[in-house]
Amino acid sequence: MSKFITETVTYVHHWNDSLFTIKTTRGDSLRFRNGEFAMIGIMVDGKPLARAYSIASPNWAEELEFFSIKVPDGPLTSRLQHIQVGDELLISKKPTGTLVLDDLLPGKHLYMLATGTGLAPFLSLCRDPEVYERFEKVILVHGVRHVNDLAYRDFFENQLPNDEIFGEWIREKFIYYPTVTRDEFHHTGRVTDLIKSGKLFDDIGLPVMNKDDDRVMICGSMAMNADTAAILDELGLTVSPRMGEPADYVVERAFVG
Ligand SMILES: Cc1cc2nc3c(=O)[nH]c(=O)nc-3n(C[C@H](O)[C@H](O)[C@H](O)COP(=O)(O)OP(=O)(O)OC[C@H]3O[C@@H](n4cnc5c(N)ncnc54)[C@H](O)[C@@H]3O)c2cc1C
Repeated sequence: MSKFITETVTYVHHWNDSLFTIKTTRGDSLRFRNGEFAMIGIMVDGKPLARAYSIASPNWAEELEFFSIKVPDGPLTSRLQHIQVGDELLISKKPTGTLVLDDLLPGKHLYMLATGTGLAPFLSLCRDPEVYERFEKVILVHGVRHVNDLAYRDFFENQLPNDEIFGEWIREKFIYYPTVTRDEFHHTGRVTDLIKSGKLFDDIGLPVMNKDDDRVMICGSMAMNADTAAILDELGLTVSPRMGEPADYVVERAFVG
């Protein structure tokens, strides 16, 4: 039996030369926790070619959504970027992952720290009611190189605060903090530097990150994940060592770059 289900593409949006979003139909069988990833792919020469992708849609949504990089010579994304509405997408049947609320201890503030397409799991989690039931403030930090890499900016700044279901929670609890390293912008600098210098906390008016109040989810490049984890360790926060063992922070490897 194949380990994939087949869904149909319903929407494709190209944000710029290197980023795009795909939405598909969603059959009844796929169950997942917000923040998890699946393998997605296409048939190439009669065989599935698949890669890990965070599911960007929340688990209550009728469609599935994925936020993707375009790697020019990448085996999957050099092809996937040409996918069209009506095409088929393979999706693995058993999503998994470490970026889940279950593995965080209770706290006051939830920090979601992302670079690049590491934003994807937080697109799902920021539409999970449990996030707002468990935390007083939810801070999404999205670090990218250029302003035009800030995919979903309008979603966070304009759509989500006016959402029928989430609007009130978002306006009261959610802080969207985009930051850019290679253009002028109202927030600049790397996510790690903003934490180390304390500028992030000055800007958002919250205390410097600490073990008593703060829980953190990290999703970026390997280097960003490792550097951020080292800073959190120094601040005394502990990482969830494995699935099912809650701690102060969790980390996912969103891409290998
Ligand atoms: C748990 C997990 C979740 C992931 N979730 C996503 C996701 O939601 N969206 C997504 O676009 N990718 C995600 N990835 C990466 C994804 O699995 C593939 O690597 C990516 O789609 C490129 O596939 P490829 O076959 O074209 O190139 P690959 O051969 O897989 O990668 C080629 C090179 O491209 C670079 N690269 C790969 N992915 C990225 C990326 N996302 N951002 C920047 N550089 C990259 C790396 O240098 C890599 O060595 C995830 C990876 C893991 C392990």
